[in-house]
Amino acid sequence: MSRNKSNILNGADSSSIDIAVRALQRDLLVAIPTETVYGLAARASSPSAVKKIFVVKGRPIGHPLILHVANKQDLSLWSQELSNNARLLAEKYWPGPLTIIVKRNDKVCDEITGGRDTVAIRCPNHPVATELLIRLTDAIVAPSANHFGKVSPTSARHVAEDFGDEISVILDGGECSIGVESTIIDCTTEPPQILRAGAISADQIKRECNITIASATGDSRASGMLDKHYAPNCTVELVDDRKDADVRLNQLNGDGRSSEIIDFGDDLQMFAHELYARLRDADKRLIDVVITVKPPMSGIGIAINERLEKAANSNRSRE
Ligand code: AMP
Ligand code: MG
Repeated sequence: MSRNKSNILNGADSSSIDIAVRALQRDLLVAIPTETVYGLAARASSPSAVKKIFVVKGRPIGHPLILHVANKQDLSLWSQELSNNARLLAEKYWPGPLTIIVKRNDKVCDEITGGRDTVAIRCPNHPVATELLIRLTDAIVAPSANHFGKVSPTSARHVAEDFGDEISVILDGGECSIGVESTIIDCTTEPPQILRAGAISADQIKRECNITIASATGDSRASGMLDKHYAPNCTVELVDDRKDADVRLNQLNGDGRSSEIIDFGDDLQMFAHELYARLRDADKRLIDVVITVKPPMSGIGIAINERLEKAANSNRSRE
């Protein structure tokens, strides 16, 4: 077993996964890699373990958690009255960055759903997460491994910086390949509704599965739907193009405010992959303002814009 920093264990080592599984069985929290962001995991069948997540994250009680399962067949283990749309989406996109909301069954405890009769389920696409789930023979709940409202972690180091020894084990599975949280689709409504944008877009689902996805209506139900979230300490400003970014950079520097530009042009995959690391890095260097050139509103660009808007809103509310 290789230990590179206190509680960070190399997820490629079989013995590290065993240690993580034993910790989960003892109702401890474990940070795990997924293809979206790092998750803070608790064993799903243990209400007392699930409760710890709310304490450690500072997450409001009643803010429901996503259940993570080992394979697509496990969807029916935790749900009932599955719609055709739910089955189709799981079949097509699992394992992958898509969370599906379905009617829950009795195996799902109230602590996970905040008492709702529905549950959000995802099958992650990361070899370390999959191996952990198979050995655990239980599902886990795993919100992002950061303090509530803050920037999500996309590396084991990010998790260690946020939580230090508060978490018994951090499994290192490298940098998250996607870098933003999963798409959330509520399949308990007809048509299904998108609650949070992610790597899989509503357009893509329409194109590939011929399922029409509506915008969300009703009460705010997902973190992605809160006005403020994903907030670094620095101020985030959004601009439409590089020229505006350069002008603004000069202004800010002239005012003595340290600032920098995030601009990935049309490279949406790279933008998603780097965004959270760049915001965290700016905070470390005590940058005052990050000026971000908005990506095109297509594919994962919609998810990136959504996160940026909320990060910018958080800053405005502090001013
Ligand atoms: P995260 O905050 O990244 O853990 O994402 C989980 C999001 O999924 C939360 O913001 C929840 O509001 C949303 N969610 C989870 N379960 C449900 C549910 N049963 N109904 C509606 N939204 C849900
Ligand atoms: Mg989160």
